[in-house]
Amino acid sequence: MTFRVLYTDRGDYSLGFEVEQPIYAGIGAEIVDARLDHNNIDWEAYSRYLADADALICHRMPVDRRALNAAPKLKVAVRGGVGYENFDLAAFAERGIPACNVPDYGSEEVAVHALSQVLALRRRTVFLDRTLREGYWRGALGDVPMWRLTNQTAGIIGLGRIGREFATRARVLFGIILACDPYIPSHAFESAGVQPVSLDELLQRSDVVTLHVPLTSTTRHLIGERELRLMKPTAVLVNTSRGGVLDQMALATALQTHVIEGAACDVWEQEPPRAEHPLFQCDNFIGSPHVAGISVESWIDNRTKQAQEVVRVLSGQAPRNPVIAD
Ligand code: NAD
Repeated sequence: MTFRVLYTDRGDYSLGFEVEQPIYAGIGAEIVDARLDHNNIDWEAYSRYLADADALICHRMPVDRRALNAAPKLKVAVRGGVGYENFDLAAFAERGIPACNVPDYGSEEVAVHALSQVLALRRRTVFLDRTLREGYWRGALGDVPMWRLTNQTAGIIGLGRIGREFATRARVLFGIILACDPYIPSHAFESAGVQPVSLDELLQRSDVVTLHVPLTSTTRHLIGERELRLMKPTAVLVNTSRGGVLDQMALATALQTHVIEGAACDVWEQEPPRAEHPLFQCDNFIGSPHVAGISVESWIDNRTKQAQEVVRVLSGQAPRNPVIAD
C-alpha cells in the first residue's frame, strides 16, 4: 500500500518537492499537490482529495470537522508553520488524530523582520525613500522628530521563541526592554534580559511595541482602540504575529488621527488584504505580505520538518510537535 501525502495549499508554488521527495522515499509515500484556494474553498474538490489522504500538510486551508469527516484514512495533519488557527483541535481530538505544527523553522527571520520594520519606522526609511522619489528633500521630515534609540524603550508582547529572538537583538539598540507574557515563569524574563510588566504598563511606557503572541480566542483583537489609546503618541507598533491579534480598522483610525506615530504589519486580518485597505492610505504605515518567516534556509528547514513529521507518524512513531487546545 502506498501512503498519500496531500499538500492542500502551499506558501510558494514556484517550488517543487525536491526537499520532500527524498524524505518520503524512505516509506514510499506519494505526494499529492492540490493547490486549493483558502479564500475560495472548492469543498467538492477538497473532499475528493481528502478521501484517500493518509497525511495532510496545509498552509492556510482550514482543517475543520467537515474536512476531517471527508478524510477517513487520515493519520496526521501538519500545519507548515508556527500558527495553527486553521485547525479545529476539538475535532482532531475526537478523531484521535495528531495535529502538528513546525514551531522552530524561522524564529530568527521573524524577529529580524520585526526589527527591520521597527528600525524603518523609527528612522522613517520607507517614508523618506517615497518622498525623496517624489522630489522632496529634508522638508519631508516635517515636524515628526527622529529619536536616539538608546534613550528609548521597546516592549515585547509574547516572550516565546520569536519574542526572545527579538529581545536578543533589541538589547544592543534600546535602553530598556519590557515584556508582557502571563504564561511564562519569572526567570524567563530575567534570562531574556527584559523587565516583566503588565500589558497596559507596556503600552504606556514603550516607544516601540512588537507583537509575538499566537492567535487564540483570548488574543483576538488583543490590541484594539483602547490599547492603542494607551500608547504614547510618539510610539510605533509592529505586528508580525497574526492579523487577528490587532484590530486593523482601529489601527488605521489611530494612524489617521495621530493617536500613535506609525505602524507596520506583516500579517493581515484577511490575506491578501484588499487594495483599498485603509492602512494603505496612511503615510506612517509600512506593510509586507506575510513574509517575516521566509529565508532560503528557513523555508528548507520548514519543508524538511513538515515531511519528517509525516514520515514519523506514518511509520508508527509519536509526532515531535503535536499541538493541543489552549
Ligand atoms: P511561541 O509559542 O514560542 O510564543 C508565543 C508566546 O506568546 C508564548 O510565550 C505565550 O505564553 C505568549 N502569549 C500567549 N498569549 C499571550 C497574551 N495574551 N499576552 C502575552 N503573551 C501571550 O510562538 P513563537 O514561535 O514565538 O511565534 C509567535 C507567533 O508568531 C506565532 O503564533 C505565529 O502566529 C507568528 N508567526 C508569524 C510568522 C510570519 O511569517 N509573520 C512566522 C512564524 C510565526
